[in-house]
Amino acid sequence: MKCLLCGENTKEVIADKLRYGEARKVYHCNNCGLGMLQDSRTEKELKSFYNRNYRKKFTPKLNQASNPKELFEVYSNFQSTRIKLIRKFLKKDMKLLEIGCSAGMFLFQVKKYVREVAGIDYDSKSANFASQKCSCRVFSDCIDNLKFKKEEFDIICMFQVLEHTKNPVKFIEEVSKYLKPKGIIYIEVPNLNDALISAYNLPNHYNFYFHSAHLWYFTAKSLLGLMRKNNFKGKVYFTQDYNILNHMHWISADGPQSNCLPGLSQPEFRLRDKFPSDKKKKFNAFIQKMDSEYKKILTELGITSNLSFIGQKSNSRSKN
Ligand SMILES: [Zn+2]
Repeated sequence: MKCLLCGENTKEVIADKLRYGEARKVYHCNNCGLGMLQDSRTEKELKSFYNRNYRKKFTPKLNQASNPKELFEVYSNFQSTRIKLIRKFLKKDMKLLEIGCSAGMFLFQVKKYVREVAGIDYDSKSANFASQKCSCRVFSDCIDNLKFKKEEFDIICMFQVLEHTKNPVKFIEEVSKYLKPKGIIYIEVPNLNDALISAYNLPNHYNFYFHSAHLWYFTAKSLLGLMRKNNFKGKVYFTQDYNILNHMHWISADGPQSNCLPGLSQPEFRLRDKFPSDKKKKFNAFIQKMDSEYKKILTELGITSNLSFIGQKSNSRSKN
């Protein structure tokens, strides 16, 4: 398979089975670090998959379809990490666009720091929910068919989107048309070097990690390479969403938690109601301290669950 990013021929197969047992290969480019799923779906087929089936198959609760309200509640917990990272780049007069905004949980929280927010999402139910919840423009359409003006936005965000696109190089190129000169892009993708993949020996997790909705698997090197190819200058940050209790669960059972909410919240021990509250506090302070120490180590080692690129459109070789 030819690498989309650097053009090298790559033969290394890092997985031949995906989540739900699908037999498909994931290739890895040893030159630039990009992981690629063997996939033959067209752009049209992918769109219809996201509009109709995605949220039936991939939801916060295993094997249960979820509605926008549920998505909003579950994933609201994790937005503070994102806000913390982008906060210093935001100004009161900015216009921000989020691509793949789902039910609007990030837009809802980031709104107060900028002049205007807007979003797009393939899933029309989520798009409608987000538009009402954040009282802003949210379209359910593709990036090449947008109602926004070219160079309209100061900042464009996309979280866990790029790995789903047919061609990430072209996608970024398309997206940047809506960014002002010197505008900022903030991208978050799953990290192929996630500790659960690269540090722990968890065969079930390994098969769970690779799935048919993720066409690309990024490392810090390949994400930077992709952005450089599109004339963006910036930096990669390592962020961890799931907490230590979620990892403990994987490590001891080599299976997912039945609901992702406890794994994405402040970790808390499951304690008896009758257990005195001062003792409860002590227990939970302990696990929370451990969680923050653990996340520090993952960040230092670059083996967090997510990679975030924040960077600026460079003027030098503008394609507009
Ligand atoms: Zn490559």
